Amino acid sequence: MTASSDPEAFAVRPIPAFRDNYVWLLRRGDRAAVVDPGDAAPVEAALAGSGLRLAAILVTHHHADHQGGVERLVAGHGAAVFGPAAESITGLSRPLSGGERIEIAGLGGFAVLAVPGHTRGHLAYLAGRRLFCGDTLFGAGCGRLFEGTPAQMADSLARLAALPDDTEVYCAHEYTEANLRFAAAVEPDNPAIRRRIAEAAAMRARGEPTLPSTIGLEKATNPFLRCDEPAVIAAAQRRDPAAASAVEVFAAIRAWRNEF
Ligand code: ZN
Ligand code: FE
Repeated sequence: MTASSDPEAFAVRPIPAFRDNYVWLLRRGDRAAVVDPGDAAPVEAALAGSGLRLAAILVTHHHADHQGGVERLVAGHGAAVFGPAAESITGLSRPLSGGERIEIAGLGGFAVLAVPGHTRGHLAYLAGRRLFCGDTLFGAGCGRLFEGTPAQMADSLARLAALPDDTEVYCAHEYTEANLRFAAAVEPDNPAIRRRIAEAAAMRARGEPTLPSTIGLEKATNPFLRCDEPAVIAAAQRRDPAAASAVEVFAAIRAWRNEF
């Protein structure tokens, strides 16, 4: 699953949940952690008979499809629960607000990033060159603005885009193909988007996730990371002629996506 060759690094695999969620399972030796377990059952099934000890649960934000399984997993495994202090998370034992560095026994260190926009306390977790970003950054897309402003989300995305190009992006949903259809509507002449559409279709036809992506691929194909590209600005201005700044372009593209 992972391109990392660092023997110290943990392995990562997706546990599909609900219709299109991924709960990411991190493991090294007999230690495991999960990111955003919206449902306990598929996680229990993955852990059963594996010999793995669930050391930690990382929660990016409060939506039920990301934290709904926490209570049952804590009851069964006693894992520590990391998540946003600013949101209501069941069983939260390590409240975080971003800027911290956390240590998970056996799995190493994670930088905690505050990425408000989808929700007001949304966090992302960065371990080396692996980013677990919940519903902030998706394959070729970004989360809806339920609680934050366009300026907050644009700033959160800009900070993720500033990570090294080979950073692996582990999103919480398989939305890539639908997002790419929108990306192609925004930038019909972008060859990287056309290429990614073909690649994503092939991955899905093989029953594989389109994730992890990389920051480099997102910068080439994700309209929400391309708000300073002339083609994206022009597309935004066809929707909102007053859109001029990068944040206004972002807001126009995000509003268009909502009704696409
Ligand atoms: Zn969400
Ligand atoms: Fe979600």
